[in-house]
Formats: sequence, structure tokens, C-alpha cells
Amino acid sequence: MLTFLSVLVPLAGAQNKSPASKPPKMPPRPKLVVLLVVDQMRADYVEKFRGQWTGGLKRLVEEGAWFRDAAYPYADTETCVGHATISTGALPATHGMISNEWFDRELQKTVTCTADSKVKNLGYAGARVTGGDSASEMLVPAFADELKFQSGSGTRVVTFSLKARAAITMAGLLGDAVTWFDADVGAWTTSSAYPVAAFVEEFAKAHPAAGDYGKTWAPMLPAPAYLYDAKATGAVPPVGFGAAFPHPLRGKPDSTGPDPVFYCQWQTSPYADTYLTRIAETAVDKLELGARAGTDFLAVSYSSLDYVGHAFGPRSWEIQDVLARLDQDLAELFAHLDKKVGKGNYVVVLSADHGVVPIPEDMQKSGMDAGWLNVESVKERVEKSLEPFKYAKPAIAAVGADDVYFTAGTYDKLKNDPAALRAVLEAIQSVPGVAHVYREEELEDQPATQSPILRAEAAGFLKARSGDLVIVPKPYWPWDSSTPTSARQYGTTHGTPHYYDQRVPVLLMGYGIQSGEYFQSITPADIAPTLAALCGITLAPRDGRVLAEVLKKPSAGDAYTKPVSSRAPNARP
Ligand SMILES: [Zn+2]
Ligand SMILES: [Zn+2]
Repeated sequence: MLTFLSVLVPLAGAQNKSPASKPPKMPPRPKLVVLLVVDQMRADYVEKFRGQWTGGLKRLVEEGAWFRDAAYPYADTETCVGHATISTGALPATHGMISNEWFDRELQKTVTCTADSKVKNLGYAGARVTGGDSASEMLVPAFADELKFQSGSGTRVVTFSLKARAAITMAGLLGDAVTWFDADVGAWTTSSAYPVAAFVEEFAKAHPAAGDYGKTWAPMLPAPAYLYDAKATGAVPPVGFGAAFPHPLRGKPDSTGPDPVFYCQWQTSPYADTYLTRIAETAVDKLELGARAGTDFLAVSYSSLDYVGHAFGPRSWEIQDVLARLDQDLAELFAHLDKKVGKGNYVVVLSADHGVVPIPEDMQKSGMDAGWLNVESVKERVEKSLEPFKYAKPAIAAVGADDVYFTAGTYDKLKNDPAALRAVLEAIQSVPGVAHVYREEELEDQPATQSPILRAEAAGFLKARSGDLVIVPKPYWPWDSSTPTSARQYGTTHGTPHYYDQRVPVLLMGYGIQSGEYFQSITPADIAPTLAALCGITLAPRDGRVLAEVLKKPSAGDAYTKPVSSRAPNARP
């Protein structure tokens, strides 16, 4: 009896020390996932310009895990595609956001990737906006959707960008505050697909973007700190900006107040990045992101670098200045998160949606092979090539950069008309800057191939949305959308399967991340699976992989690794 009691008493004591009312111990998780996408940030900007940084970008490089060989493995390197890839961990053939816009064969018109006729856009601070945007065209859930659905403990999803196609793709379907900027009216916007956020309404009223009207964007660093010439060769600045600093934000030359030209200038300036940073910090404060039970999700896509890059190109002072100022903004954002969420309690990922090609005129000046691949020339030459074969005109319904869509029934007819099809393919090949043309039959079903370009085209091909023919431009021959009646609106662009468009930075920092430089080849589709691993959830697609090399091994005392039976009876977990 005594022996029995002596065994029983310590056991009873142990039970008393873990009362039944206590909730089960949850495995460790980050309190907040922070996704930062810098639109059009080339990977080599980190290598070339990091000496100019003292703030948040420097901190990411030095304290975080820096992947130096990250690139998109597909051809259509555009904003909607890149953001959806980061957000879902899938490639465009899987997530369906194959391009910023595509030709809808049913509607017989070109639609944007977020267009949704079932929803209405809503302007904050009483602004009247038009259109309707949602994530309804995404074919798999976003990481943020999965986090919210699977964790079941009050996850809040908040995203900001100047662009709908960035804010929406990062949030997915279940976002709590999904906010973008309508430059036509200068208003922060969401849609009826998402809740209207009281804190955004309050912030938009108190801090209209028009508050930056009249400011002048001048270089932040001393002149010798910048690489390249002060005036970028071949730049096409927005109306009201000159070819070099300083750039006044005063709208049209005869304007007396904020007009659509001012909002375009504002988007093409670092002031918009600073605004996004401030509103993101406000979200952290007002919603107490990272301070409640679940793992929250905050994403910001900084769009200004893309507008500035299209105008001034990658070899400009303007690009360097936007990044130097973003470095300061991110220093402030991380300091804010350290204070409100706690250093080490949140994980940050920074990447980009695509790179950019140097301005062709700038390359030509150096004697390199570069030029513009004109979309109108493709249309013209195809129509002309079919004249001898008596096809109904026009044969082409739309050319969306690399995608060529024929009018209904035309491509089926061409497939059974080898002479006419050959004439069409030869006509496209004859356009300056064309490297190759693929037919849809060559791209379907992920063909086994050694060709990296064919593989890249197939990874972004979705029969219902892609063209009947797909054009591959030569390296350094970007798309030119000018027509005989309208001039090209940009100095350079992106959207090809070449490495300068595909290669982007991937930096991770904070909760669960082992810092250092990593030279493994990875893709931004690996970001969502890695975040999923940190948060203990499972995604539907597996195009990407977990970046296991940067994940810290759980410590020996962790609830994950130490089996309960090995603990001393009285030990606290
Ligand atoms: Zn972009
Ligand atoms: Zn762009």
C-alpha cells in the first residue's frame, strides 16, 4: 500500500501542475509574416547599389538570408504574373495569371488579370472610382488565403500597393484590407470583393496623396555617390519631368492643383513609397498586427521603382535614388515592427516581380545589338502574309505583347493549311527583334525539352488564356507598343524570358531564418512554400520548394523536438 501511494503521489502532483483548463501548447509560429515586393527591382541592384544603403535594405542584406541566384523560370515577366507566383508558390501555368492582361476569347476583348464584372471598386475618402477588380481569376489560393483558412485563429490579411494587380494577387480572396491607388482620380481604392477598412478611410482622409503636390524630387545622396550619368540616355520621363533631376511634382505645366498628371508624377517618385510605408505602419498599429493569437499577414508592393524604371531605365540616378529612399523607409518600418511585434517574432521576405532591360538606345550607343520589337509590325506583316490565301480580314484579333490571338476559327483553319501557316510564321520571324515563334501545340502539357526558352514559355502557357502563337524576342529587344498615331510612352520595359527580366533579389529575415549568402538556384515560387513551412500549413501546388537551407533547426528544448515521455514528471513544458 505504501509503495503504491509513493508512486501515486508524485503522479497526482504532476497532474495538478498542468491544469485541464490550460489550452494545449501550440507549436511556435511567427506572429507576423511581412511580404515586401519591390516592383521591377533587378537582382543586381543589390550588388551594384548596396554601398549607398544604410537602412532597411542594408539590414536585410546583412542580417537576413540573401539568395543571389533567384530568377523566375517563365517567360511573361510582368507584374501580375510575378506577384501571383510569389503569393501562391505556383507557376503561371498553374495559378493562371499568365500576363497583366489577355484576350478573352468568349468576351472577344482584352481583359486585365484582376477584372471582375461581378464586383465594384470603392474609393476611400469619398472618391468616385470605376471598374471592378478581384482575385477571381487566380486558379489556386494565395498563401494568405491558406494561412487564414488553416490556422483558424484570427489571421488578418492586409495588403497595399499602387497597383490593383499587386495588392489583389498578394491577398487572394480572403483579404481583410486590400488597398491600391487609382491614379485617374488620386484615390485609395478597394472593391466590393473585400471589406472596407475603417483605418484606411481615416488615413486616406487625413493624408491625401495630394499633400505632396508642389514638392520637388531632388537627389538625396551627394552627386559622387551615384553610378552612371546624371542624364539617362533614351529616357522617356512622365509629362512635367525633365530628362534629369530635379523633378517638380506640379502636374500639367498650366496646372494650379493636383491633376491626373500630378498623380502620375507622384507614382513615379519616392513619395509614393513613403506613403505606402506609413499606411502599412498604421495598419500594424490600428489592427494590432502580430500582437494577437494568430499569425497575421502584411504585404506591401512598392510600385514606384517600376514607374521610374520604365521612364529612366536601370542605369539612372533616379533608380538609385528611389532605392536609397526606400532603404530609409524600410529602416523605419523594421524599427516599427521591432517595437510593436518584437524583433525575431516576425519574418520578412523581400523580392521583386521581374527585372528590366536596359534602354535600347543606351545600349546601341555602346555598339551593342539592341532595338525595339514593334507590336504593330507583327500585326501588319501577318495580315499581309495571308492576303494570297484569301483569309477574312482581320485575321488577328489581338496581339498582347508575346501572345498572338487569331480571330475565331482562323487558327484551326491555319493548322490544316500548311502553306498559309508557314507564310504567317515567316512573316513574324521577319520582324526585327524576333528570335522565335512557338505554336500553342508546342507549349501545351509541359513538353520535355532541354531548351530553357521553350521550358520558360511552357511554364507560363495556359491554353484558355494564352495566344495561338507565342513570340520570343531577341535579347535586348523589348516590346514597343507605339503605333503610327501614338508614340511609345516608356523608355524601357520587361516581359521576356531573358535573364535580366527573370532575375530578382530574394531576401528573408527574422523568425526562423538562418542569415547568410546563398548561391543555390531558386525561384520566387519557393517563397510561399517556405512561409508555409514556417507557419505549419500546406499549399495546394508544389511548383516551388521549401528553402530548407535557410530554416533554422528547432532548438533542443523546443516543444517540437523533445518527446513528452522523456520529460521529468514535474518539468514545465
Ligand atoms: Zn511589375
Ligand atoms: Zn513594369
